Amino acid sequence: MPHYTPLITMIVAGFTVSFFMGAIAMRLRVAPIAGYLLAGVIVGPFTPGIVADANLANQLAEIGVILLMFGVGLHFSLKDLLSVRRIALPGAIVQIGVATLLGMAFAWTLGWTVLAGFGFGLALSTASTVVLLRALQARDLVETERGRIAVGWLIVEDLAMVLALVLLPVLAGIAAAGPDAVSLGAIAMTFLITFIKVGAFIAVMLVVGRRVIPAALHWVVHTGSRELFRLAVLAIALGVAAGSAYVFDVSFALGAFFAGMILGETPLSRRATEETLPLRDAFAVLFFVSVGMLFDPHVVVEQPLPLLATVTIIMLGKSIAAYGIVRAFGYQRDTALTIAASLAQIGEFSFILATLGVGLNLLPAQARDLILAGAIFSIFLNPFIFTFVLRKNSDKDAEPAPAPMPTQNHMVLVGYGRVGRLLAASLKARGTRLIVVEEDGGRVEAARAAGYEVIEGNATDKRVLLAAGIERASTLLIAGPEGFEGGAIAERGRALKPTLRIVARAHSEAEVAHFNKFGVTDVVLGERVLAARMAELAGR
Ligand code: AMP
Repeated sequence: MPHYTPLITMIVAGFTVSFFMGAIAMRLRVAPIAGYLLAGVIVGPFTPGIVADANLANQLAEIGVILLMFGVGLHFSLKDLLSVRRIALPGAIVQIGVATLLGMAFAWTLGWTVLAGFGFGLALSTASTVVLLRALQARDLVETERGRIAVGWLIVEDLAMVLALVLLPVLAGIAAAGPDAVSLGAIAMTFLITFIKVGAFIAVMLVVGRRVIPAALHWVVHTGSRELFRLAVLAIALGVAAGSAYVFDVSFALGAFFAGMILGETPLSRRATEETLPLRDAFAVLFFVSVGMLFDPHVVVEQPLPLLATVTIIMLGKSIAAYGIVRAFGYQRDTALTIAASLAQIGEFSFILATLGVGLNLLPAQARDLILAGAIFSIFLNPFIFTFVLRKNSDKDAEPAPAPMPTQNHMVLVGYGRVGRLLAASLKARGTRLIVVEEDGGRVEAARAAGYEVIEGNATDKRVLLAAGIERASTLLIAGPEGFEGGAIAERGRALKPTLRIVARAHSEAEVAHFNKFGVTDVVLGERVLAARMAELAGR
């Protein structure tokens, strides 16, 4: 056995140390991200003890980025993406502009060149995919309007970075050879080629990918092999991401997002999500470890003021710009605050730009050190900002729940999916008064189109249940697929109306027991009903 196995060392050190640090963070009630970053510092080269390979850590973290963006794509439709373009496109562009100008002003005070300032500002302008998505996921915001705007914004930033990465070498050429050496034509050409590549990528995905990918997955489903399905999902996510990066020079994240979005249009998206969840979470953790590994404590001691200025640009400058733009477009304060908080950090793209800039002699090494340290501090502080912003916000003006309806003795049905839809139809045929609670935008529309009153939102939220008039309802029907989440809905429903009759759907004996624990006596276990009905048919 060879003893020097850097990949294994990296994976093992990354997972175990981040597990311990994450557990400690959990005990201390701070965000687990803080623990993972610290784990990175521990296995990084600037502290004694274990030293893992930072380059490998970056590559492993990239797998986390791919799976995260794939997962977001699964829940995003092209329609969702286009629906936020009016705010996401100008928002991201103005915000990148503001951050770049602030970076240039900062560079001017340090006596760097204008181009160095430009590169530095650009590096500070893009938020990290992993940090943003984890923050939104932890608070169940990805599929809300604010979440969609933030994700759309991220995608515009991502595209801008694809441009920045091709533009920097051209600018470096100008800097080295003087302004006469490179014509405007050459810059225009670089832009044009990049636009053509991105355009070709989107066209190939929407025309070819949209046919081939779902067809391939359907075929795999019919083979009946779970293992093959799992492999197929991973092959699609990673294969499309890497393929798009190699062929079209777009980022891994963008390729993965499109692969997910295409699969999201098929009924297999839920299963595909489940298959990638464990890997996604594990590799996303390695992202934070990889960032922590880059942290060189010298910067804090030697350049406290420039570092403070860098962190201020990232956390205040960018956020104020984002907040102002979102408000200017007429959105509510909470939407603007959430988006500003999601973007108040920098990550992987900034590192890539910084490394490229230093390699091209465009940026001083000091700029890279400040960018890395700025990333650590902003990522570390991000969860606190989120908590602060959301809590402050919910104290003052809680999200307006839909107005309660004057219905009496009606039934509240949670979930308008495969089960809920059929249930609703039979209740309607019987003349029952019904209010549907559904969290998925597409299904809300479907239910409204079928003539039902619908409250959009997650039924585990008390306000949503109140909006559905639970206090005046006779029966609560829980037809979502998640029995354990269903337990929480039952508990809240029961607390709001003790005499409520609750009927729930379960998938396992464990879920039945869980529902019983919350006082739900009428639990329907799909498998039992199926068996009973099959026995009935067999007996004929
Ligand atoms: P299906 O598994 O096809 O019957 O779909 C279940 C439906 O329930 C989906 O449309 C989900 O969006 C919806 N659903 C699941 N959990 C909740 C919840 N907590 N609140 C509202 N809708 C839910």
